[in-house]
Order: sequence, then C-alpha cells, then structure tokens
Amino acid sequence: MSRPNASEKKQIPIAEGLFTTPLSPAAQVRLMGSQCKNCREVSLGKRQTCGNCGGVNLEENPLSRRGKLWTYTVIRHKPPGDYRGPEPFVPFGLGLVEMPEGIRFLSPIQCPR
Ligand SMILES: [Zn+2]
Repeated sequence: MSRPNASEKKQIPIAEGLFTTPLSPAAQVRLMGSQCKNCREVSLGKRQTCGNCGGVNLEENPLSRRGKLWTYTVIRHKPPGDYRGPEPFVPFGLGLVEMPEGIRFLSPIQCPR
C-alpha cells in the first residue's frame, strides 16, 4: 500500500459553501458570495440569511478573482490553542482584502519570510 502524493490527496474545504466546486484544479476555484436581493449586501460564502437586513432572499455567485490588499501583517508567533499548521511553526502573512463586490475579509497571503 502506498501513500497518496499531494496531488492525489482529497481536498476538503475549510467551510461548506465558501468555494466553488470542484476544488481542483486550484487555479479555477473561486470564493463564493451571497447577495441579498432586498438590500444588495454581499457576504462571503453561501448564506441563508442576510447579516444586514435579515432577509432570506439571497443569490449565490462566485466572487471576483482579484481584490485589493488594504493592509497586512506577518504572524511570526504560533497562535495559541489548537493551531493545526506546520510544525515547527512557519510565519505567514495575513491580509485584509477588499473585493470589487464591496466586502472585506481577512485572508492568508503569501509573503517573504
Ligand atoms: Zn439584506
């Protein structure tokens, strides 16, 4: 019995409804958004309820491929708790990204170490 290599490992989304499927090839995967048909508020991922007005009439669409990096930081210390990243800890970038759809969210980003 052999172990699967990286390209054969099953890809599991960090949360259901956050990405388009299938999850491979990665270059074609996009973040999903939900837009409220009442107030036009856009949220990250598939949502049942609008966080702005409480409406339940939402439309799901893939978000743009590119956003604007507002600010970033480099996490140089291992987070406390049940951190499941690489051991030993590897510093990583964390950016605040604004999408053309008008939402902002924190995202891991690649950066020099
Ligand atoms: Zn709404």
